[in-house]
Amino acid sequence: MFCKIANGELKSEILYSDEEVVAFKDINPQAPVHVLVIPRKHISKHSEITQEDQAVIGKMHLVAKKLAEDLGISDGYRLVINCGERAGQTVWHLHMHLLGGREFGWPPG
Ligand code: 5GP
Repeated sequence: MFCKIANGELKSEILYSDEEVVAFKDINPQAPVHVLVIPRKHISKHSEITQEDQAVIGKMHLVAKKLAEDLGISDGYRLVINCGERAGQTVWHLHMHLLGGREFGWPPG
């Protein structure tokens, strides 16, 4: 499904896009800022990343940092990757949640 967002088949509010990474607003936001950062390459979950994904994983972090600055949440934000059903993953395309604009508790639920 996120492949379709990345290639434009499915509509979404895209905030960043390049040849490797796409970022778009979450359809069901859990914070005032809730963005999903994904690799264009289809990787179904974090536990399946390999050495060859090192660059794109790093890029996802740099994009998240830049978006946090652009969206005014640099003073405090949370990055989340749910891996597997037990951790709450519901979409089988690797994605990093960028959340901000409110306080966050710890430990997470
Ligand atoms: P997960 O639970 O897998 O970590 O996160 C999946 C996220 O994708 C959820 O926060 C959900 O709201 C979001 N989501 C699911 N379907 C769509 C969609 O079609 N468009 C967008 N923008 N977000 C989606």
